[in-house]
Amino acid sequence: MIEYLSGLKTTLHHTVLGQFPLLERAVFQLIDFLTGPVTGVGTRLHWFAILEALGLAAVVYLTGRQVRPSGGWRGFIRYCFPKELYTHASAIVDYQLAILNTCFGFFFNVTWRLNTVVFTTLYLSWLVALLGPAPHASAWTTSTLIGATVLILLAEDLSNYTFHYLGHKIPMLWQLHKVHHSAEVLTPLTAFRTHPLEYAFAGAWRSMFSSLAIAPLIYFFTGPPSTLEIFGIAATLVFVGGLGTVLQHSHIWVSFGHTMDHIICGPALHQVHHSQAPHHWDRNFGVIFSFWDWMFGTLVIPDAPQKLVLGLAGETRQPHGNAVAAWCLPFWEMVPFRHKIVDMLAWVFGPAARGLAERMNLVRPMAESHDSVDPAVRF
Ligand SMILES: [Zn+2]
Ligand SMILES: [Zn+2]
Repeated sequence: MIEYLSGLKTTLHHTVLGQFPLLERAVFQLIDFLTGPVTGVGTRLHWFAILEALGLAAVVYLTGRQVRPSGGWRGFIRYCFPKELYTHASAIVDYQLAILNTCFGFFFNVTWRLNTVVFTTLYLSWLVALLGPAPHASAWTTSTLIGATVLILLAEDLSNYTFHYLGHKIPMLWQLHKVHHSAEVLTPLTAFRTHPLEYAFAGAWRSMFSSLAIAPLIYFFTGPPSTLEIFGIAATLVFVGGLGTVLQHSHIWVSFGHTMDHIICGPALHQVHHSQAPHHWDRNFGVIFSFWDWMFGTLVIPDAPQKLVLGLAGETRQPHGNAVAAWCLPFWEMVPFRHKIVDMLAWVFGPAARGLAERMNLVRPMAESHDSVDPAVRF
């Protein structure tokens, strides 16, 4: 499959597409995204993770605690993919963003130089300055490789937790993260409902953390670091797929039980994170492990399956009605005197200018501005 795709790309390169490098890049990335579940290259929706998710959904369906199984396989498919959810306006924006980010998200990749190689090299130079030349004394064994993999996984997941926490606490980052939280329904593609600039910052942040684990390992152990990477990627795949991460963004309520909810961030915990209920705000920031939330006091474990109202609390209208609004609105909301700018435009061009600004969600309608609460003011 991978060889066929590289052949297809070579063929496409020799067509008129090759004359437009940016467009070619967009098309190639779209091909990789759409075939990712099969090839497993650079995707969070690996076929293994999808199978795991379907397995978990089957357990929930067949145990019949949340749903009365009926209609055999067709009933199960209807349960997994309810039409009203997958055709919801919010889900359509998820699909638009997934495609737009895949094709042109690289325009926002301002942190591409801040990668794992750069941070690892920096930390290694600090270790050499502190402790002297790298001894490379220890040889890799199966157990040390497993230990190293767990260490890297923990470092990466701590980066997930801390970045997500900051995304809720720092107003500028919240404007970007709001794009993810404006989802009114959850489907596995909501995982791709992110602002590409937030994605770029998260990548640099993750590299900064994972390098904290990788640099000492390279310093003390002998052998090529690529071994570490390969092992780490495989293990992450098993963890992420096996823990039902795909269902974190779905309507299927999966809880691993009160005790395990303190350790693993099962789907139900993340679904609660998307809830509008005030007691769910700023809770369950974890991605793979929930013990970070437990340690830092941000964990909330629901006792039983709950009907959640999802989306941005206090918003009377969907601010991200399409992917272009989701891309652009966060930048406008970072402008400090934006309301004054709209007032000025309304003064120059008349009330029609204010009406247009309201329709574009650049400002709240006058009638709503006093009685609704922007979640950002919580911070
Ligand atoms: Zn969040
Ligand atoms: Zn989410």
